[in-house]
Parts: sequence; C-alpha cells; structure tokens
Amino acid sequence: MSAGVVIIGAGHAGGSTAAFLRQYGYKGEITLIGDEPHLPYQRPPLSKAWLKGEASGDDLYLRPQAFYDEADIAVWLERRVEAIDTVDKTVTIDGEQIVYEYLILATGSKARPFGCPGAKDTPYHMLRTIADAEWLKPQLTEGRRIGLIGAGYVGLEVAASARKLGCEVTVFEREPRILARVASTVLSQAFTGIHRTNGVDLITGADVVSVSAEGELRRVHMADGVVHDFDVLLVGIGALPADDLAQAAGIACQNGIIVDHEARTSAADVFAIGDVTSREVKPWFEGRYRLESVPSALEQAKQAAAAITGFKAPPPEVPWFWSDQYDYKLQIAGITRPGAKLVTRGDPQTGAFSVFHLNDRQQVICVECVNRPADFMAGKQLIQKAVAVEDAFVADAEASLKPYLQTPR
Ligand code: FAD
Repeated sequence: MSAGVVIIGAGHAGGSTAAFLRQYGYKGEITLIGDEPHLPYQRPPLSKAWLKGEASGDDLYLRPQAFYDEADIAVWLERRVEAIDTVDKTVTIDGEQIVYEYLILATGSKARPFGCPGAKDTPYHMLRTIADAEWLKPQLTEGRRIGLIGAGYVGLEVAASARKLGCEVTVFEREPRILARVASTVLSQAFTGIHRTNGVDLITGADVVSVSAEGELRRVHMADGVVHDFDVLLVGIGALPADDLAQAAGIACQNGIIVDHEARTSAADVFAIGDVTSREVKPWFEGRYRLESVPSALEQAKQAAAAITGFKAPPPEVPWFWSDQYDYKLQIAGITRPGAKLVTRGDPQTGAFSVFHLNDRQQVICVECVNRPADFMAGKQLIQKAVAVEDAFVADAEASLKPYLQTPR
C-alpha cells in the first residue's frame, strides 16, 4: 500500500494538519491514523465545560466525519502504528507496511506514571481522553469525596468543576505552592486563595507516602500519619512526550522529538507537531520547550502543512495558553523564566489582575492575566515586539497599554 502523507496520531495536532494540508492545496493521499475510537477532538473541555455538563459531546470534535469524507482524508481509528522505518519510508500497522512520502508524527503526550507506594493495588484514574472523562463525569455527584494528587492546570480545573457539581474536593500538591513550575508566585497564591474560598481542601507541601484501597474506599496516607478517605482518587502529575516510536526509529529526541521552525525532525521528510515535540520559541526565548497547548499544536500543524505544500510559512507565534476555573479566565502569553521581575497590575483580591514578567532589559517576556482579556491582548503584542516598559506604568491598572504598542520594534 502507498500513501502520500501519513499522519500518526489523530488528536488536535494531527487532525488540524490534515485539514491545513488540504487548505494549502495538497492533492496527494492523506491518511490520518489514531488509536482512540474518536475523530480528532479537543481535550480542553474534558476538564471544564464538558465535565460540568455545559457542552455536548458533539462540541468536542474538531470536525464531523463529513469533512474528512469531502476532503478525501482517510481516517483510520482504533489503529496503532507499531514502528517507523525512515530509510524505507514505511510505517508498520497491524503487521502491514504503508509507504509514505511525508510522515507527520502527532502522537501527543502520555500521563506521567504514578509511582507512589500502593498505587499498583489502588484503583485510581487520570484524565487525558474522552474515555477517561466519560468514566469520571458520572462520579462527580453531590457529596462525593474526590481526592486529587497533583495541582497542575488540569487537576485544578477538575477540582473547580467537581466543586461546582457539589463534590467534596481535596487536592494534594507536593511542591510548596501550586503551579510551581509554570506560574509566578503571585498567580499561585491567587489561585490557592480562589480554590480555598470555593471550599477545596488544598494541601501544599503534601507528603503523600502511599495510597491504598479498602472496598470502595480510596485512601491517601500522609507522612504525619493522617489518612484521607475518598470515593474517587484522581492523579494528575504531568505528562511525558509519546516519542517512543520516534526514538526506536533513531529520530533525534530530547524530552520530545526535536523539531525546527518548520516542524522538521532529524529524519528526511519526517515532521513532528504538538505535545510530542521539543521546539524552539524564536526569536523570543533561548532553548527548547515542550509546549503542551492547543495554540502550539495548531501553529506546528500549519508549519508542517506549509513545508510540505510549499505554502507560505506562518509567522512565529508567541506561545499562549488558557485555563478556566470557577468564574476566572486565566490567559497566559510567553514563558515564565526564573529571575524575571514581576509587576502586578490590578489587585489579585478583586479577582481581576495581571502579572507582567520583565527581563533585565525591562522587556515583557510573559503575562499572566486573570479576567483581564485586554491586558492579555496587549501583553502578547508587547512580547511579540519585545517592548521595554516602565514598572509604574504597567502597575497602573487604569493606564492603557496602547502607547507601548505603537513603539517600533
Ligand atoms: P493529542 O491531542 O494528545 O493527540 C495525540 C493522539 O495520538 C492521541 O489520540 C493518541 O492516542 C494518539 N497516538 C499516540 N501514539 C499513537 C500511535 N502509535 N498510533 C496511533 N495513534 C497514536 N491546552 C490548552 O491550550 N488549553 C487548555 O485549557 C487545555 N486543557 C486541557 C485539558 C485536558 C484534560 C487535557 C488532557 C489537555 C488539555 N490541554 C489544554 C492540552 C491540549 O489538549 C494538548 O496540548 C493538545 O491536545 C495537543 O495535541 P496533540 O495532537 O499533540 O496531542
């Protein structure tokens, strides 16, 4: 069998790049292979609107089956690619070889394994897929006790959704503050307050020594001897790149598949996009990053499709991300760096504020905005243009940031 472009992984990145290929004029065969039983869908609502019953199942899908039929994109679901051969230019699936002209790896990330003592004998759950979410949703009823290990964005969103549905929620975070690796101290403190005010028992610096089960009970044992009992135990301790196939094929990987600004890997005609990649964020940041976000997946989906079709390359985008918890819309642009100066705009106590991160040249490198969408829009552009700002001006929540946006780069 032969196929023009073969895409491994029918998630947000894979599904999007198939559509961009057609949009950019690709006329060859496109085969999109995914191991889940679903057409490409969005994961963000699984911990937010969909979990709370505020979005329907149909809302999750990027596009209906009719789109793929009309665009002549072959979608193979519940099929898992077993191997890649970058010399013969084939992928192996169910023992059969498929020839590709171009290969796009969009295999995403996988949940970091939970190595806590007792985990093997304790039923616990994670939230990554529709299947996980379909299991979880009916569990979140009034009065149910939910234990959550790990206070990352997904865990905190589930905590907020579960509280909205009337559950009793306890969150265990090993670090001294929530979101320690990805957010400023100001943001961590604000969201700690928000969760506690909304009735979450949020335990930071939590020393969980083991977990266990007794009948329907799930137990979390702390170093000080305290034992917490739950009806449901959820674990969200981060994700790892699903780069096993690439590694086995000899494609360069380091915390994900290494790609350039066109989403090209170290192997000829092989691209990688989305959560599985380790990418640069030029010209704004040094180093490589694994950005687990929808905007990054979409940006790279465009890059790969443009490189394959010869379509105009998309301009680089400042990375951004969002999270919804209770009535708070958090939007973040840029990347948090250790040592950045923090300037807070607005009062975190009011629930509408922003944190501007400045480098040693006073340039904005990151903005974290809570219920301040205008700051987010302006902040993203300030990062884009590498504009230097004054602390006092940024700190004045009433002062418009527009004058800075007119500054030529
Ligand atoms: P995925 O969407 O994970 O798709 C990868 C697919 O490849 C999977 O279906 C996987 O099963 C499949 N696959 C892997 N290996 C193979 C193989 N060998 N053969 C066939 N198929 C394979 N991002 C935001 O920006 N904002 C948010 O608010 C947000 N909320 C989120 C909430 C949740 C609950 C989760 C789980 C994620 C959230 N994210 C959010 C992250 C966002 O969903 C991801 O960044 C995005 O899905 C990445 O797309 P992807 O295509 O790289 O990976």
